[in-house]
Amino acid sequence: MSSIWVLGAGQLGAMLKQAANPLGLDVRPVDIETDETLPLKVDDIVTAEREDWPETAATKQLSAHPNFVNLETFPQLADRLTQKQWIDKLELATAPWFPVEDDSTAEKAYQTLGDRVLMKRRRGGYDGKGQYWLKQSEGTEIPDDWKGLAIAEQAINFDEEVSVVGVRGKNGEKYFYPLTLNLHINGILYASISPLQRLEHLQGQAESMLGKLMDALDYVGVMAMECFRCGEELLINELAPRVHNSGHWTQAGASVNQFENHIRAVAGLPLAPAEVKNQSMMVNLIGVDVDYDWLAIKGLELYWYRKDVRPGRKVGHLNACSGDLEQLQSIIKSLSNMPAPYDEALGWLSKNLP
Ligand code: ATP
Ligand code: MG
Ligand code: MG
Repeated sequence: MSSIWVLGAGQLGAMLKQAANPLGLDVRPVDIETDETLPLKVDDIVTAEREDWPETAATKQLSAHPNFVNLETFPQLADRLTQKQWIDKLELATAPWFPVEDDSTAEKAYQTLGDRVLMKRRRGGYDGKGQYWLKQSEGTEIPDDWKGLAIAEQAINFDEEVSVVGVRGKNGEKYFYPLTLNLHINGILYASISPLQRLEHLQGQAESMLGKLMDALDYVGVMAMECFRCGEELLINELAPRVHNSGHWTQAGASVNQFENHIRAVAGLPLAPAEVKNQSMMVNLIGVDVDYDWLAIKGLELYWYRKDVRPGRKVGHLNACSGDLEQLQSIIKSLSNMPAPYDEALGWLSKNLP
């Protein structure tokens, strides 16, 4: 039987493997630093848990395989410059931007984008790393080592941050999960809630935006679109051609979770609309130790990634899904001994749950 290889062996690869297990599918996450010769067979399938990778012995073997799904798309979305160009080409709303070139100046940035401009490294940024604020009031200049390597974006005064996760099959059929409301603190995702009735009227807008992108790229698998909600309009913040942290709630809250959907799509298996079970919420574990007392909390599900704990590092997440909103509020209370900024994240969850 053919195997599905995953470029990358982090938590996303592990959760893809976990989701494929009940289907009897052999999913093999690959550590990109391994120098083993991989026993790739010609009818195997290759996918990735990350959009960008260095050239290593392992990534060279995997990217030489003829069944590497979306291979051409990854570099186009991994570079923020070409990602933004795709969004513009399809006339989808996004934060106004320009490429930071050798001759770009902060003055031009302030003239064209306003007095607060966010520079983002073209490649490799995540969890808000790779960002640099230009502020006219502070006379910030563009450092030389950002020239040619970044884009500059207008600061968006958004109402809130939402995302949508969709899946597209080889035949072009598409399904979407309901919009997810996300809280980022210092550029890093802390908590998510989905579904929310108050976002339902934006669902069609989100699906048509992400659907247009997936179709244009002839994309197969799960893709996530992070947006800023500005009134009734969604502006695309960024795209992730992979399973996404803001879709982790689907492990508890949907009949088919995002990981299984991605595997189904790349393996060419049938897709179906996921049944959304109840109210879900997710809390990321960032720079905190595992606490197995969490298991005593009714309705709480723990995913621990077995990574070394470091400040600001994502090391796990907690999911809960229930039709009993009081139970969700009581779970939030049970977590109140977590360190700052969890007071903010838990308060946000408590306030934004219906
Ligand atoms: P991720 O871990 O989601 O991949 P990232 O490092 O790729 O993060 P972005 O998603 O581009 O970075 O930005 C991180 C966060 O910074 C956003 O979720 C948002 O809170 C804030 N942010 C990004 N762009 C802007 C903007 N143009 N204006 C205001 N805030 C922004
Ligand atoms: Mg990103
Ligand atoms: Mg992001």
